[in-house]
Amino acid sequence: MSDVVTYNREGAVGVITVNYPPVNALSHAVRFGIKDAVKRGQADANAKALLLICDGRTFIAGADIRELGEPMQEPGLAKVIKFIEDSDKPVVAAIHGTALGGGLELALGCHYRVAVASAKVGLPEVKLGLLPGAGGTQRLPRLTGAQNAMEMITTGQFVGAGDAAKLGIVDEVAQGDDVKAAGMALAQKVVGEGLQPRRVSELTDKLEADKGSDVFTRFRAGLEKKAQGVFAPFKCLEAVEAAFTSASFDEGMKRERQLFGECMESDQRAGLIHAFFAEREASKVSGLPKDTPVRDVKKVGVIGAGTMGSVISMNFVNVGIPVTIAEVKQEALDKGLAVIRKNYENSAKKGRITRAQVEERMGLISTTLNYDNFKDADLVIEAVFENMAVKKSIFGRLDTACKPGAILASNTSTLDIDEIASATSRPEDVVGMHFFSPANVINLLENVRGTKTSDEVKATVMAVAKKIKKVGVLVGNCYGFVGNRMLHQRGAEATKLINEGASPAQVDKVLTDFGFPMGQFAMSDLAGIDIGYSIREECRKAGEDTPRSWMDKLAEEGRLGQKTMARVYEYEECNRKPIVDPKEDELIAEFRKEQGIESREISDKEILERCMYVMINEGAKILEEGVASRSLDIDVVWICGYGFPSYRGGPMFWADQVGLDSILSTVKSFHSSLGGDQWKPAALLEKLVSEGKKFGDL
Ligand code: NAD
Repeated sequence: MSDVVTYNREGAVGVITVNYPPVNALSHAVRFGIKDAVKRGQADANAKALLLICDGRTFIAGADIRELGEPMQEPGLAKVIKFIEDSDKPVVAAIHGTALGGGLELALGCHYRVAVASAKVGLPEVKLGLLPGAGGTQRLPRLTGAQNAMEMITTGQFVGAGDAAKLGIVDEVAQGDDVKAAGMALAQKVVGEGLQPRRVSELTDKLEADKGSDVFTRFRAGLEKKAQGVFAPFKCLEAVEAAFTSASFDEGMKRERQLFGECMESDQRAGLIHAFFAEREASKVSGLPKDTPVRDVKKVGVIGAGTMGSVISMNFVNVGIPVTIAEVKQEALDKGLAVIRKNYENSAKKGRITRAQVEERMGLISTTLNYDNFKDADLVIEAVFENMAVKKSIFGRLDTACKPGAILASNTSTLDIDEIASATSRPEDVVGMHFFSPANVINLLENVRGTKTSDEVKATVMAVAKKIKKVGVLVGNCYGFVGNRMLHQRGAEATKLINEGASPAQVDKVLTDFGFPMGQFAMSDLAGIDIGYSIREECRKAGEDTPRSWMDKLAEEGRLGQKTMARVYEYEECNRKPIVDPKEDELIAEFRKEQGIESREISDKEILERCMYVMINEGAKILEEGVASRSLDIDVVWICGYGFPSYRGGPMFWADQVGLDSILSTVKSFHSSLGGDQWKPAALLEKLVSEGKKFGDL
């Protein structure tokens, strides 16, 4: 008998309890223990039904990552599940916390399921480039029908207990949190009513209902738009389809196995696994002791109710933290509040939150024109215009208005945190908290440490990221930090490619074919062309060598992006899909003529190499300077903040896959043909190549 799984009989119910902290993952001991306990239950003449529950904070939350990459020891999960399903005594699963991946597959092998109201279930394997390989793709559609199963399995999204009951995944949702009581109640009902094992593999009504329908064709067409180029979701779809087309459950299981094998062999899996672990690792800041105290953040102030400030406020209100927003004028506050309300009302319309929650959240926001109202705030985030003088004057005023120990943060996207901190008498409390737009959608929070930022403040802003459900990455202070510094190089290179002969649509297509959700110029249109223009103008005023480009011409003509409805692209009103604007060609041709540039054919390969390698070279400089402590931090910034395809693992991981030696030689050749500091090979890149190492070895 395994010590992580116990068997005890309570009345007519044989109770199988898994106790394998922290998340009852499906280790070899757990699999073996469950099978053994089911055997004992079958042999126990007084047990009329069996109940599977877990101790601790959750039901089985998936595979044991400690065993990842090791050969699977018998019994494999699919066999354990079949053993449970074949039991002639009914088996009930009682779910609390999360039943994920193999955990949910195991619950689907049980004959009846109850979940406490706070529980969640899901099959997230696709996020690691896999499909549920222990019958999940065959059993789930037998309970939910094709459409629901495909949605859950191809996205890996979790569903709450209430939805799980509506979908037929669980039979009952229990009131309260007592999972043992909920499980016992259902098991006793099964015994009392003499219910027989109900084997999901034998259910056919949902299969019959969807057989021959066009649900798969429609779903595949949708997937081709949403997940183009991503391998695993299509394999998940094929596996679910096999449940409907196979002659038997066992045939479907065979197909699931084959498709699982194909996923295991896909290159994309390595990238996704790296992305998954990098995201977890990013929260553990290197050099920051684990026991660093974290300050309480119970009240937040936000300065500026513009694009960023208003939506940043929502992040705190969403988790119950009250926010006071300050502005220069009442109208700006009203406008900001209206944006927040509209966002919440849209969420309510989509059923994501209730009407009562809209009012509850709005009720947590107060507004002010006076910084004295920040005297109780534990954290104040400044989100006003990107202008150093304005920001310094605000931080000077905050220094006077805020209580000792309050954290003073700036949402600046590029400016020097140390210079901002110098306007206060407490630089140790000053930090960058760089949210990304739209701040209610993009889940990255790039926290920027100044030279004097205290460890306590660093630890607190990382904890705040977690609290507001963002992925926090702690980076160093420099122009543009990690993300925008690299983006700036890509943007400049993309613009030069157009100067030389490429078209914006060609450059953007290369980037979207690579897997970015949008290209460089569609992104400029979205952010506003004036933003880049004013940054370049500032550089020019400061005497920096910033050559003119056709984008400057665009800004000067008032074509500022989507907000002016005149930009790089025209847009279809209904879906904002970019359409090439013929006037664009004229403007670019005119620019080339003015500059005496002879346009040439530029290959997609050159576009990809110039756009990507210039970022990798900059990323290497960022690592060399210690602005990012690990290459995985850069990867996470780019995956979570800029839509870098997670199946490629982030820019630095991708570079390791391409081969640093080949990247270095191309960087060198661009340096000699194109010139410019951006192509000067990073010393770190040269060092790694000479030592035969990768970024991942650092
Ligand atoms: P915005 O122009 O939309 O809003 C700025 C707001 O600040 C305005 O409503 C203005 O009235 C207010 N303001 C100006 N001075 C003020 C003061 N002294 N006190 C109170 N309010 C004041 O700008 P935004 O796009 O929200 O950008 C704000 C900051 O966020 C900038 O530093 C920007 O670099 C950064 N940022 C912007 C984005 C983006 O995509 N927009 C993304 C990340 C970071």
